[in-house]
Amino acid sequence: MKDAPLGLDPALVLGVHDALIADYGSQDWWPAETPFEVMVGAILTQNTAWTNVERALGRLAERIDLNAESILALDPDDLADALRPAGYFNLKARRLRDFCDFYLRSGGMEVLSRLGAEDLRARLLAVKGIGPETADDMLLYAFERPVFVVDAYTRRLFARLGRLSGNEGYEPIRAAFERALGPDVPLLKEYHALVVRHAKDACRSRRPLCSACALRPDCPAGADTSPSAR
Ligand code: SF4
Repeated sequence: MKDAPLGLDPALVLGVHDALIADYGSQDWWPAETPFEVMVGAILTQNTAWTNVERALGRLAERIDLNAESILALDPDDLADALRPAGYFNLKARRLRDFCDFYLRSGGMEVLSRLGAEDLRARLLAVKGIGPETADDMLLYAFERPVFVVDAYTRRLFARLGRLSGNEGYEPIRAAFERALGPDVPLLKEYHALVVRHAKDACRSRRPLCSACALRPDCPAGADTSPSAR
């Protein structure tokens, strides 16, 4: 068994996957028609719920075909208006335009998909408004690269499981999960999707539904059902 930093025991990490997929089934992520749509969604989903992203994507699709050329050709005010349901729509319109500019200057999917994962990650992170979580969403779900996406749900769930303090840096957490799970793209995709599903459905920020949780036998937070434990 490989060493796992941050106390992430590979058996426990895989056990969480097994328990969650038995409960919820495959999540079939990312919900998008094309890799480019995945990347647009990854930008729009920052700080908002996916249902709002879907509404914004629907409004955008009513105006243009979803490709980088059409997004850049759309009047910036019209773009922002289309993105209104996603919140921070002026900022997201600028970020989306910045990303589309980068995407086209880089040669699009054909060129970007030939880059190594670290090179591609560095280039994505150099685009204004793309942080590690957004870049890793793109790498995993659009480019099929074996990276683990760390988000607030991951931190909350594994903090409650007693495996993270919740305030570790992004990179140590990512590395720990990648060591535990290995370079298995389907598993990494499913894992992140299941964590999101569980955090929304059961392991909520307030009043988690511990009594029916499949992870409860291994969860110190779930073992104590008193309100002060949450
Ligand atoms: S037992 Fe409760 S706190 Fe623990 S993982 Fe399940 S829902 Fe979250």
